[in-house]
Amino acid sequence: MPYKARIESDVIKIWRILNARMRLTDDEQKKYLYLEKGFAGEVQFDLYTEKLHSKPLILNDLLLESNNSNLQIDSTLMFPKTIYLFEVKNFEGDYIYENGNFYTFPGKGKEIKNPLDQLKRIKSLFRQLLQTLGYHYNVEGYVVFINPSFTLYQSPKDEPIIYLSQLPRFMKKLNELPCQLTKQDKELADKLVALHQIESPYTRIRPYKYEELKKGPTCHMCQSSSLSVCGKKLVCNDCGCEVLVESVILRGVGELRLLFPDMRITTNLVYEWCEGAGSKKRISRVLSRHFSVTGVHQWAFYE
Ligand SMILES: [Zn+2]
Repeated sequence: MPYKARIESDVIKIWRILNARMRLTDDEQKKYLYLEKGFAGEVQFDLYTEKLHSKPLILNDLLLESNNSNLQIDSTLMFPKTIYLFEVKNFEGDYIYENGNFYTFPGKGKEIKNPLDQLKRIKSLFRQLLQTLGYHYNVEGYVVFINPSFTLYQSPKDEPIIYLSQLPRFMKKLNELPCQLTKQDKELADKLVALHQIESPYTRIRPYKYEELKKGPTCHMCQSSSLSVCGKKLVCNDCGCEVLVESVILRGVGELRLLFPDMRITTNLVYEWCEGAGSKKRISRVLSRHFSVTGVHQWAFYE
């Protein structure tokens, strides 16, 4: 069990809803898919760290501030005396390392953001943070390329890179480290978790309006909007999965709250958002079962 679990960010959740309900530009779509892919890669890496039987403290996805800069660490493993930081990359395809830079390969040879530089920056800011907090640990950092279809030509031998094929061996090494955690290790972990910042998702997403979003329920598995009502269930015409109308309505409320935190949840609003999923009466019944109601008749809203 990680000491701090990884959860899907609201930014990804909002992009996913927008992608299903409006036409994103190619650039926006790219940005959204990059986030989905990055998250999938991190989850993949978690499968390795969670299996460590040396049981270090695992802090996933920390967003911290140090020296007036933000630093985001995909994965942090705390052993006594040494803390390991990981920058996980889910790059796919061929790349080349030339003069200390990363380029796509062969293609146009577009330069990409150097993950080794990113790691260096994270390490340095993290060390400064430890110093400010008054702790002394060795800090090691690695860039992990988690995708099985990733190749780096002219890969540097002396840089802290771990390829997927090397990951089992690396984990084995971590398993052999002594890991008698002290009170001080836990204290620091608690401090880092407390310092973790929750970023508002709305500044990182294009602006959107309720009116421009396509209404109607979407499949929770494949985001398809082609669903048929079948008694108490909705069946996805694309992937075949079934879900209770009640869950669809609750999911709709969750989407509305996430997308429009200032909007009041009313029967009419949910009816429109979940168009075709059920009658107003049914929606009102579900809402009153799960939320408390304020006001009456057409002025009633749910919290
Ligand atoms: Zn589906």
